[in-house]
Amino acid sequence: MLESFLCGRWVRGEGVGTPIHDALDGSVVSSASTAGLDLIGALDHARSVGGPTLRAQTFAQRGAWLEALAKSIFAGRDALVDASRHGGTTRGDAKFDIDGAAGTLAWYGALGRSLGDRTVLLDGPPEPVLRSARFAGQHIFTPRLGAAVHINAFNFPAWGLCEKAAVAWLAGVPVVAKPATATAPLAVALVRRWLDEGLLPEGVLQLVVGNVGDLLDGVGAQDSVAFTGSAATAEKLRAHAAVVVRGARLNVEADSLNVAILGPDADEDTTRMFALDCVRDMTQKAGQKCTAIRRILVPQDRMDDVVEALVERLAAAAVGDPADKGTTTGPVASPAQREAVVSGTARLVAAGRVVWRGEAPEGGCFVAPTLLAIDGGVGAPVVHDEEVFGPVASLLPYDGSAKEAVAIAARGGGGLVASLYSDELAWAREVILGLAPWHGRIHWGSRKVADQSPGPGTVLPNLVHGGPGRAGGGEELGGERGLRFYLQRTAVMGDRAMMERMFAS
Ligand code: NAP
Repeated sequence: MLESFLCGRWVRGEGVGTPIHDALDGSVVSSASTAGLDLIGALDHARSVGGPTLRAQTFAQRGAWLEALAKSIFAGRDALVDASRHGGTTRGDAKFDIDGAAGTLAWYGALGRSLGDRTVLLDGPPEPVLRSARFAGQHIFTPRLGAAVHINAFNFPAWGLCEKAAVAWLAGVPVVAKPATATAPLAVALVRRWLDEGLLPEGVLQLVVGNVGDLLDGVGAQDSVAFTGSAATAEKLRAHAAVVVRGARLNVEADSLNVAILGPDADEDTTRMFALDCVRDMTQKAGQKCTAIRRILVPQDRMDDVVEALVERLAAAAVGDPADKGTTTGPVASPAQREAVVSGTARLVAAGRVVWRGEAPEGGCFVAPTLLAIDGGVGAPVVHDEEVFGPVASLLPYDGSAKEAVAIAARGGGGLVASLYSDELAWAREVILGLAPWHGRIHWGSRKVADQSPGPGTVLPNLVHGGPGRAGGGEELGGERGLRFYLQRTAVMGDRAMMERMFAS
């Protein structure tokens, strides 16, 4: 059984716990339980021990520490790749997760260095108060005194842990992280590694491995909860007394029916970029990325050649044992995910038609990659409402107008990222401005950047991650912007000159 790391030691929960499976054959490889563990005590430990340690450091000091954590991940990459194998990831998938974790820590480390020997952040210059030349208002940001509770999804056990923690730590706030149980072994391996190397000061990181238990009952006014996962769980968190009664902050990253829109003008290079992005998002991590393209909008008169381009690339994907070098796509992460993907795909099939279906081994958590076509635009059934979290995407023909493209995209109810592929400035502008209110990030592909983008599916630390509506309404990362969730903004009114001296560091 996996252990939790609470109050400075590894502890085992009671009972048999939740089984953790090998995605390859469905066998049980481990389990996790939090029954009988003092999760509320862990929150107190974070507040009383971890918080003061972090707040005593400057941004530059915290930044240097984040860089050391990143280096440790890079150095231990092979062992961490092994720890993620049970979850069905190919080596490439695992590296995407693990390198993303290290890269985000390193990026926030560098940001900390650039913020320098400060402990207080200013929000803009002093503001005049009434007509006084001397009496002014200065907005400042200071770290909240609680714990950052991070509830993570199963699909990025390393990146999910580190992208949230990097931001909280740089802000000066200790973390109590709860990885998704299905893929928790990688998060456990990562924390063990940091502890073995003496890189974790007491109380700055604790790990709740298994069911969330009564953790939220201990969450209070100075704490923050950052959640990534399903809309159904988000609904429970939004209604929890920790948020509704005690006023803890809540950030939600949830489902997203991300679109990719091919512009009517797209030439060969731009179309190739579009096809590459669509196929990458279907095959990488077996489609289990929150940012993966689920709805592919294609001008009606381009459907045939687009289908040909996508199928040619999809046919080159090899679904199989992730340990085999030639495998491009492994199984989904767990039996529960397989069941969800199979039933969701069946509902999409009933709403449209299968354009292409790949082959997948029998058994385990394998699912066959499937490309569908669904007619009806904004009125198309199922596809705008159900996210199938696997190697599945749907083509939606549209009339090529910016207006219809935006209307169809918006039917997703708010998304993490939307992509458009066009070299036509006026069309692209209309689409971008139409998509913007519904999305946290927009990826614009065009001829001259065709070979320079990592694609819409890659989340970057300096750009905002999150989206309105269905996507949860949250916002993470985005460089310094991300720190604000963990900081209190306060308007201080007083003597301008004295405040300038006071907040110089
Ligand atoms: P989930 O069931 O909501 O689980 C997510 C996390 O919440 C897990 O750690 C889970 O713990 C925990 N959890 C479950 N019930 C809880 C409760 N009552 N209170 C507090 N925490 C609870 O989500 P999932 O189905 O595994 O994840 C897939 C979904 O996540 C997809 O729909 C995907 O769109 C979304 N996702 C979004 C993003 C993003 O950045 N927006 C990224 C990745 C995934 P256990 O594992 O122990 O149940």
